[in-house]
Amino acid sequence: MGGGGVGKSALTVRFVHAMFVEKYDPTIEDSYRRNLTVDGITVALEVLDTAGTEQFMSLSTLYMRSGDGFLLVFSLTSVESISELHTIREQIMRIKEATLIPGKEQRVPIVLVGNKLDLTHERQVSREVAVHLSRSWGGVPYYETSARKEINVNAIFEDVVRQMIKA
Ligand code: GDP
Ligand code: MG
Repeated sequence: MGGGGVGKSALTVRFVHAMFVEKYDPTIEDSYRRNLTVDGITVALEVLDTAGTEQFMSLSTLYMRSGDGFLLVFSLTSVESISELHTIREQIMRIKEATLIPGKEQRVPIVLVGNKLDLTHERQVSREVAVHLSRSWGGVPYYETSARKEINVNAIFEDVVRQMIKA
């Protein structure tokens, strides 16, 4: 999840189809399947690539309720895109708390992702700012990725799956 244009679809397509899409219809919301082996455990992953969460608030509530793990993506080239993640994370936590099993400690698997690492000259968000945010969220893992250059794409999915296995 994350703002428009941060690279959610590019990361999904890179992960699922091992290619980079220059232009992906921003209104397409679809789910993709891929098997992933983490620490010897193979899981059948269903990846939902979200779009246009603003107009379809109830839909995003549904995704948050049914989602087992979340990649919260911003673009390293946009300060606004990291700010947008506050609301999204708050929503996720609120929805997950509502379904909490009393007495059982539950952590919501989340990974913070700063995408477009390859656009060095357009960078607006420092590593420090992102790490600070990830710490304020209780120390969720933070990765810098490039869907274009294929940097850390598998790593973000592996991390969230590892958390999901433990959760
Ligand atoms: P979404 O709205 O979050 O799904 O964003 P998209 O995946 O459609 O990407 C928006 C734009 O950013 C597209 O033009 C992509 O080609 C571009 N983009 C996505 N990821 C990267 C990346 O890692 N590096 C660069 N340079 N461009 C990217
Ligand atoms: Mg998209």
